[in-house]
Amino acid sequence: MGATAKRVHITTFGCQMNEYDSGRLAGLLAELGYERAEAPQEADLILVNTCSVRQRAEHKVYSLVGALKELKQRRPGLIIGVGGCVAQQEGQKLLDQIPHLDLVFGTGALERLPELLEEAGRGHRRALVDLPAAPARQPLRAPARAGLKALVTVMEGCDNFCSYCVVPHVRGRERSRPAAEVIAEAAGLTQAGAREITLLGQNVNSYRDPGEGLDFPGLLKRLCGLPQLTRLTFTTSHPKDLSFRLMEALAGLDKVMKKLHLPAQSGSDRVLKAMGRGYTRRQYLDKVEGLRRLVPGVALGGDIIVGFPGESEEDFEQSLELLELAGYDFLYSFKYSDRPFTRASRLSGKLSEEVKAQRLARLHARQNQLVLELHRSLAGQVVQVLVEGPAKKGAGLLTGRCQAGRAVNFPGPPELAGGLARVRIEEGLVNSLRGRLLPA
Ligand code: SF4
Repeated sequence: MGATAKRVHITTFGCQMNEYDSGRLAGLLAELGYERAEAPQEADLILVNTCSVRQRAEHKVYSLVGALKELKQRRPGLIIGVGGCVAQQEGQKLLDQIPHLDLVFGTGALERLPELLEEAGRGHRRALVDLPAAPARQPLRAPARAGLKALVTVMEGCDNFCSYCVVPHVRGRERSRPAAEVIAEAAGLTQAGAREITLLGQNVNSYRDPGEGLDFPGLLKRLCGLPQLTRLTFTTSHPKDLSFRLMEALAGLDKVMKKLHLPAQSGSDRVLKAMGRGYTRRQYLDKVEGLRRLVPGVALGGDIIVGFPGESEEDFEQSLELLELAGYDFLYSFKYSDRPFTRASRLSGKLSEEVKAQRLARLHARQNQLVLELHRSLAGQVVQVLVEGPAKKGAGLLTGRCQAGRAVNFPGPPELAGGLARVRIEEGLVNSLRGRLLPA
């Protein structure tokens, strides 16, 4: 009988890029013979893939890893590792502060995990946090079976250095993957069953193939040639770099979903300037108007930070007003928090937690009203839904996403899962739409 396989448990915090990286880690470890453990208690290796974009996420990491101390005391052979943005930011400090931690790997050192594991096995604790000049990623070996939706990173890092953001410091400067690698990875995933692919990058608009110079709209066009791919989408676009060519691609390529995440961060010119975003409110809204003209029915997503240092009530009201003017379908909103290395952390005029919390609550309330109106206005439209399977709530209901990425629930037979369905929208709710299945 062969030896029992080792088992790994991975906890992921943060954005889709971290989810993607955790997928890579799982793939890498599978090649070393690791199987997945459902709970940390069952694992021989526990990895925490971290996020440092918000202070709260960072705190969660410390408390989670701290809580593993007891497990390590009971089972000294257990290996505990921290990867991702907090690892990149803190490096050796994490090993110094957490004696039961065995290894730390930064955002650029993911592929070197096997080396760290081997050292940890010999009792050497080490932190690897070099940032490579080029993404070290090779196309993922395609899994035997992929889910309906899959993620593929096209570029990493960011050159924008917005004054509040830690990303350029923990993910490094912009590095694009060769188009051929991206296409090979996406092709492998579609052959394994994926039908919808989300391309990831901190600013996909800056994508440039390092060899032939292909730009992002060009990459989208090539990916649309994959025969088994039904839908393609991407995130995130920096508003200052959103080009007419990309809007045209969104309008003209049938497989590209009609949705765009275009983070504004604030509706006030004064705050936008202090954030170093590189556009004014007017310029942002001009791009939104241009997009809506070219891509009717497009679903727009935004990000708003409330309580940036020095944000006045009037600045905040301009952000509230922006929600209405932009007409967001989905909104990610956050309270400002100081992040290490950033210019904003050194600014005066910090707001109290209470003011930030109140502003965030007002922002949510307004957005909920607006999105409800928007969703109600969609009643009567016929949409094409990529069916994901049974809805979590509501017996006999299926759930899926329309071409604009809105969640649609409707009664239908489970065999429709994985395929496209025509659905008439009957009711708009805050977080989803209800519909009725139409004949194909
Ligand atoms: S564009 Fe600005 S907010 Fe976005 S990742 Fe880059 S520095 Fe951060």
